[in-house]
Amino acid sequence: MMDAFRGELAAFIRGIYEGEKKILVYGEGDVGAPVMMIGEAPGEQESLQGRPFVGKAGKNLDEFLREAGMDRAALYVTNTVKIRPTKRSAAGRIVNRPPTQEEIRLFLPWLLKEIQLVDPRCVITLGNVPLKALTERGSTVGELHGRLMDWNGRKLFPMYHPASIIYNPGLKDVYRQDIARFAGWFRQQSF
Ligand code: URA
Repeated sequence: MMDAFRGELAAFIRGIYEGEKKILVYGEGDVGAPVMMIGEAPGEQESLQGRPFVGKAGKNLDEFLREAGMDRAALYVTNTVKIRPTKRSAAGRIVNRPPTQEEIRLFLPWLLKEIQLVDPRCVITLGNVPLKALTERGSTVGELHGRLMDWNGRKLFPMYHPASIIYNPGLKDVYRQDIARFAGWFRQQSF
């Protein structure tokens, strides 16, 4: 099932970005993992290695797992947008940029299908991009982070994007508290 999904997604991307060299970064983890974590989009390292959450984001992920007392096997990680959004910097270098609304809209049906296939009990969104894509409401991560909500027969747990902590170190404690809250819920489950 997942192989078919990936094949269809690859064909879709080839059709949309004809002639452009776009590297697809698929989600990673087991179908049936109880928790699915959704980021924004792949960065440079993810695009180079073809895997989500490697490089700096991978370190954040390890920290999350450690603090939540979770096994890597319990987690499926993916992104809202599955190609690296880039732009040319003033200095002429290729750098990351946030995904556009159009890119998010383009990938949303694929993300929803991926959630169905993996079938997690809880979806963790990192930052505003996946939160807004999934909930279609005006609420922001600033308002909803750290709260376990009901969402389409699953739980949804919004968290800040770990990269936002680099820009705003004041969020570090909040981020830690949110992990601890999630861990409290996770420990009570019998997966
Ligand atoms: N940041 C994300 O949101 N996703 C990745 O895969 C890497 C960094």
